[in-house]
Amino acid sequence: MNRPALLQAIPLLPSLERRLAERYDVQRLPAPGPDRDAFLREHGAGYEGLVTSAAHGATAALINALPRLRVISSFGVGLDQLDLGAAAQRGIPVGYTPDVLNDCVADLAFGLLLAIGRRIPEGDRFVRAGRWSAQPPTPFPLGRQVSGAKLGIVGLGRIGRTIARRASGFDMDVRYHSRHPVEGVAWQHEPQLLELARWCDFLVVITAGGAETRHLIDATVLEALGTKGYLVNVSRGTVIDEKALVQALQEKRIGGAALDVFEREPHVPPELYTLDNVVVVPHIASATVQTREAMAQRVVDNLDAFFAGKALLSAA
Ligand code: NDP
Repeated sequence: MNRPALLQAIPLLPSLERRLAERYDVQRLPAPGPDRDAFLREHGAGYEGLVTSAAHGATAALINALPRLRVISSFGVGLDQLDLGAAAQRGIPVGYTPDVLNDCVADLAFGLLLAIGRRIPEGDRFVRAGRWSAQPPTPFPLGRQVSGAKLGIVGLGRIGRTIARRASGFDMDVRYHSRHPVEGVAWQHEPQLLELARWCDFLVVITAGGAETRHLIDATVLEALGTKGYLVNVSRGTVIDEKALVQALQEKRIGGAALDVFEREPHVPPELYTLDNVVVVPHIASATVQTREAMAQRVVDNLDAFFAGKALLSAA
């Protein structure tokens, strides 16, 4: 029996590539450019499935260059780079990997929150530079207590709720902002983002990305957060007006920021490198062996379900 042909848009975990190759005829999509265009013109009609990632997504142009495409399976939960409209127009279901990464992303959100509030990377740099043992000793600046602090969460979805649950271990007072209040949760909904920013000590951003949330965290929100407040972003770089954030940090108009994601990854504004009130990491919120394996399994399970004539385990 012929195995379904899949087009793989990006490099994947070796274990995932192996599992896909056991079941499907997999071909790698060439990098963007004339080679890719020629490849798609010649072979585009040969693929029933497309495997991609949240970071790479799939444009309408790519989807439409695959006239026999029947299913898309994406590694990740973000859908901002995936043209869902173009897929829906052709009735193509889109699989993705929600839920299996909630814990991991929530863990990193707390890691960043602790890192910036308690000045952990700054302390590490301080010790390595020999400043602790120097004579005369340099005093290390005091941090911000995390236990008992006020936590504002922007976006109380699957991951936002997991972050809120983590906060109870730190006896934090939690409120959240989203367009719609979430039924059946104990945390207080704050319909005005500015009010949430004014109220909280830590503002953790975990909304969806895309046009609707672009620059949701702008200069006015940062002003409301003020010098007592710390910003943590584990959602998408686009949710924050990065230029306004850099300015606020340079002028010390907010307490600090810890960022996993950036507007033009892998570009990080170089102004941030010299600031001590900033922690930056390279988009690693879901990057553990365990979570990446679970995501990989979901990519395979979504495809296997589709080709067995069943509903996808998780469809966008
Ligand atoms: P969900 O869809 O479960 O939650 C999204 C939340 O965002 C909802 O509470 C939604 O509430 C809120 N939201 C959407 N638009 C707005 C808006 N305009 N204003 C305020 N709130 C808004 O998604 P997940 O929790 O599973 O994931 C959230 C995002 O996290 C993903 O879309 C992804 O981009 C990012 N992510 C980042 C990772 C990383 O590596 N850094 C890893 C995994 C995910 P409502 O609709 O009521 O407004």
